[in-house]
Amino acid sequence: MASVELKALNCPKCSAKLSLRTSQRYCRCDFCGTNYAVQPSSRGTSLVAFETLLKDVSDRTKYIEASMRLPRVAADVAEAQAKVEDLQRKLTDTNAAQLELVNSHVTEVHNSSVLRWICGFLAGFMWLLVIFRLEGICWYLALGAAVFLTIGAVHSAERYYRGQWNFEIRQSANCTLLEQTGLDLESAQSHLQDLELEQELCGRRVRQHRYTEETSGARPDGLP
Ligand SMILES: [Zn+2]
Repeated sequence: MASVELKALNCPKCSAKLSLRTSQRYCRCDFCGTNYAVQPSSRGTSLVAFETLLKDVSDRTKYIEASMRLPRVAADVAEAQAKVEDLQRKLTDTNAAQLELVNSHVTEVHNSSVLRWICGFLAGFMWLLVIFRLEGICWYLALGAAVFLTIGAVHSAERYYRGQWNFEIRQSANCTLLEQTGLDLESAQSHLQDLELEQELCGRRVRQHRYTEETSGARPDGLP
């Protein structure tokens, strides 16, 4: 099973514990709502708040990068959203299949178990009559019934054990699928959040730059 490597960091603003996947480039503190870019530093990994990144309005390279990235990141967000929804549906379907499997198994086990006991008891009774009590035509009739009931008892016992066996195999497959889908969903959700934060940062950078240029009278040439 794929394990997810997590990094534990503290929010620089409120000191809350944040756990990040190694692939994450952005994160949000759930406690104080601050958004951060995850950046490598001499001490390992550091978190730089969006506000800090957006302070420098003079850097046009970042603005150009952001305005070019914005349409692509929007498409990536839509794709990641579709993947999350797909996995959520898969998880719901697998849960429903698991529930149905358990319900049908309970009914099947109950029916074959009851039938097994009834046939077994009646077959035993018939065999006793055949061996110790009956004679003539009744003996033949009882013998037929005893054989028939014995076959019924063996058949329902076989159905019972085969049902148990199949149930365990399918149950185990469903559990593995549920676990894997759960992990995939977590990973997809984390990827989606990463892209949404990137979209937010790009959007804010573009808006801020345009605002600065509008207020200072300067206009970027040929840029959106
Ligand atoms: Zn915080």
